[in-house]
Formats: sequence, structure tokens, C-alpha cells
Amino acid sequence: MIQLRSYLGGQWVAGNGSPQTLLNPATEEPLANASSGGLDLRGALEHARARGGPALRALPFAERGALLKAMADAMQGERDRLIELGIANGGNTRSDAKFDVDGAIGTLLEYSEISKALGARKFLVDGEGIQLGRSARFHGQHISVPRQGVAVHINAFNFPAWGFAEKAAVALLVGMPVLAKPATSSAMVAHRIMEILAEKKILPEGALSLLVGSPGELVSLLGAQDVLAFTGSGDTGARIRSAKNVIEHSIRINVEADSLNAAVLGADVEPRSDMYELFLKDVVRDMTQKAGQKCTAIRRVLVSRKVIDEVKSDLIELLSTVKVGNPADEDVRMGPLATASQLSDAREGVARLGGKLAFGSLSPFPHKGFFTTPVLVESPGDAVHEHEVFGPVASLLAYESDPGRIVAKGNGGLVSSIYSEDQGFLEQVVMDIAPYHGRVFLGHPKIELSPGPGTVLPQLVHGGPGRAGGGEELGGPRGLAFYMQRVALEGSRPVITKLLG
Ligand code: NAP
Repeated sequence: MIQLRSYLGGQWVAGNGSPQTLLNPATEEPLANASSGGLDLRGALEHARARGGPALRALPFAERGALLKAMADAMQGERDRLIELGIANGGNTRSDAKFDVDGAIGTLLEYSEISKALGARKFLVDGEGIQLGRSARFHGQHISVPRQGVAVHINAFNFPAWGFAEKAAVALLVGMPVLAKPATSSAMVAHRIMEILAEKKILPEGALSLLVGSPGELVSLLGAQDVLAFTGSGDTGARIRSAKNVIEHSIRINVEADSLNAAVLGADVEPRSDMYELFLKDVVRDMTQKAGQKCTAIRRVLVSRKVIDEVKSDLIELLSTVKVGNPADEDVRMGPLATASQLSDAREGVARLGGKLAFGSLSPFPHKGFFTTPVLVESPGDAVHEHEVFGPVASLLAYESDPGRIVAKGNGGLVSSIYSEDQGFLEQVVMDIAPYHGRVFLGHPKIELSPGPGTVLPQLVHGGPGRAGGGEELGGPRGLAFYMQRVALEGSRPVITKLLG
């Protein structure tokens, strides 16, 4: 069996101790072992700070952007292999795996484009200079400079390629070295990406490291110039936030956690209209793509009481055409959940939601693999606003009026969507739900090839308040701020002007 190693301190190193076995979730066949026991994490962080950081910071933005383009090209060259690994180790259908790998490549390319506008600078000038006193000489100017530590990226299991690339692209563009830790259960894709990049020596030494296996003491080794971007469950996020050194050194942290994303169908939308069909399509895609293991997937489906029966029967009809099985078979539309524990969490979560199953079943499949059917819950209890079931599960809720107030009960989410052409309704719901979200998706049938609310685009921010972790990533150039220190220069105008070049 393959032993996955970590890439730390500029070399491949094997951990010791009892390894975790990575499986094919469709067959439960063991694929690889991973262990991080005994690895020198302190040394790895030091190497990144001492070698990777200075090498990156010596380059202007445009040249760092060229490195991102080279990373994207290298991944594109092995796209098929990465997709195969996503199918085998992630339980992804081919289309799910493409979504992950192409999203990764696209994000690297987008940040490479952004670098062109930033050009020959090594830091950012923030806004206009300000005259501070009566003398025109007394001048202030904000600038943002790269932090001098390591950007540690701890990722969730569901997007091993995209999760790696969307964080790494931004940090590397700023000039911070990255130590990425993929979730262990699906680490084979990120591991292969690291192999590709290391083989081709695309990045300066120390600019990119990969820790495969449990995080061990990683978080406790971070200092004040390091940053930590975490994606995963709210519980782990809370544990990381409360680590002693994180509090003592005010370590900058970004948390992307749980989310009870909602889709609201306006009462003005007639069944069978294009808007109605788009809404159904987006709900079914979010329930089944990656077997619902998307942080942005629609979990709560809100429709006016007068059409709820029609929506229910249409969703049931569409869900019954979804073939669930081993994604290695081309006609399968939904694969298994990623691990046995994800499956048992999903089953327990459905029970916790209460209500009735309008579609689907919690019964085990008669063969190996971590499979479930899609599940549509009707008349759920209040837990629907409190508990995220991370699987192909959504709940149908009726509203009389004010759906925005129901959506807001989720207490913070990544994205919610509205399908309506009633301008007054749209304005009301947008204003009601916007403070609780990082993104609001306004579905419209005239948008060609609309990806739906579940696709995170690098141009727009990703994150959300409250339950969603309070973080924010991406958003084009906005994403750079997390990895930079904003500092106000205050002094003589000619001196500052000269410093800025
Ligand atoms: P998880 O169990 O919290 O794990 C996430 C990552 O944290 C993994 O890499 C894990 O490593 C690591 N980890 C676990 N304990 C840690 C600790 N004490 N210190 C440092 N790192 C630790 O979450 P998951 O099961 O992979 O992901 C599912 C959850 O992620 C869902 O709740 C979903 O909503 C959320 N999610 C959110 C987003 C978003 O963008 N907001 C995106 C995707 C997923 P090991 O794998 O080695 O345990």
C-alpha cells in the first residue's frame, strides 16, 4: 500500500506511529496510509519562515503571480490523474472531481491575473496619502506589507484540490510561504499536487510545505507573524481559536465552518415557469453534487405554503432519477459519503432534524461503501436552524410571509439564494438576510450557464458570520488583506513619497 509522506523542510519525510488508512469510500478498499507521528513540525515552520518567506518577498507581485500560473499549468498537465484520485479517494463522480480540480486551477489563474495589475510592487499602497496638519509636509499613507511568518492552511475533506489552491494562491501572491494540511481521509489529491509542484520545482525552496496526517502540535507552534486559515467543522474551529498561543500571540485566524444555507422561492414564481425550474435544478444539484458535502449546499428550502405540495412532488420526481453508486461507473450521478463517520453523522443528523422523510431512506445499502440516498425532510423541527447535516440532505419549509426572518434563524451562513422577480420581495429579503451571510445569490433563468449558489467564485468573497465561522476568503484582491499587515506611515511627505517608489 502507498505510504503518503509529508513535504516539510524542502524534502519528503515519513511519519511514524500508527498510521491512518485512506479508503476508497465506494468500496472500502484501503488505498494508502498516512502518519505524521514524529515529524519535525517546528523545524518545518522555521524552514518556511527562513527560506520560503524571504524568497517570495524578494519577488514583485507580478512574478509571484507567474508562479501561480506555473502551478496551474502543472496541475492542468495532470488533470486527469487528479480527477481519478478524486474519484477513488473522495467518492466523487467524475463531474464532482472536475468541479474540485478545475476550481483549483481556475482560482490559481484568477489570482495570477490579479497579480498583473499589482505589477512591480512588493507591497500595496492603501488609498491616497493624507495631509495631517497645517503643513503640507506632515503626511500620512497607509500601506500593506506581507507578514513574515507562515500561512498555515488546515483544510476540510470535501475539496482537497480547491481547498488547497484557493488558500495557497492568495498567500503565495502576497509573499507568505504556505504549510498546507489537507484532511487526512481524502489527502491523496493534495499529496499528488504537492508531488507535481515539487518535481517541477515551480516554487522557491520553503515556499510550500504539505503535512499529511494528523495536525499534532501544529497550531501550538504558531507565533505572532504566522496566520492560520482553517476550513472544517465549527467544533474544530472553536478548539483552534481557544488555543493558548493563539490567544496569547493574537494569531490571525480565519475560520470557514458550518452553514445552514437556504434557498427561498418567491411567492410570485409560478410552477413550471423558467424561474421555478431553475430553483428546482439548483436545489437538486446542491443536494446531490459531491453527495451534498459542500459547505455551500442548500440545506433549507423555503417555499410559500400555497406551492409546497407541488414543490415537494417535483423534487421527489427529480431526486428519484439520481442514480447512487460507485462513481467509477459513468452513469452514477451521486457517489458515497467520504467516510464511515460522515455517513453515521449524516444519519444521526437526519434523525435530529425531526419531521418526516419526504424522499429517501436511512437504511444501509446491501453492499460495501458509505452510501446513502438523497434525503428530503419535510416539517422538520427547530434543529433545522441549528444543525448542519453534511450530506445529501435538505429540508422543505413553508413560509407565510417574511422568509428572511426564517433564514436568519440559521445564525450566519455562507450563502443563501432567492428566486423571484418581484422587486419589492427581493429588496426585503436581501436586506433581511444580507447581514447573516457572506454571499446572497439571486437566481435568474436568463443567466446562461448559471453555476447556482453552491459554486464559490474567486472574484467574490467566501465566508460568513456567526455559525459560518466569521471568516472571509477570496473576493479578488480583498483576499490579500488577511496575509498582510496594514501599517500607517506618518512623516515628511517627500520622505514617504520616496519610500513608496
Ligand atoms: P473537521 O473534522 O473539523 O476537520 C477539518 C480539518 O481540521 C482537517 O484537516 C482535520 O485534520 C483538522 N483538524 C481536526 N482536529 C484538529 C485540531 N484539533 N487542530 C487542528 N486541526 C484539526 O471537519 P471535516 O469533517 O473535515 O469537514 C466537514 C465540516 O467542514 C463541515 O461541518 C462543513 O460545514 C465544514 N466545511 C466548511 C467549509 C467552508 O468553507 N465554510 C468548507 C468545507 C467544509 P484530520 O483530517 O487529520 O483530522
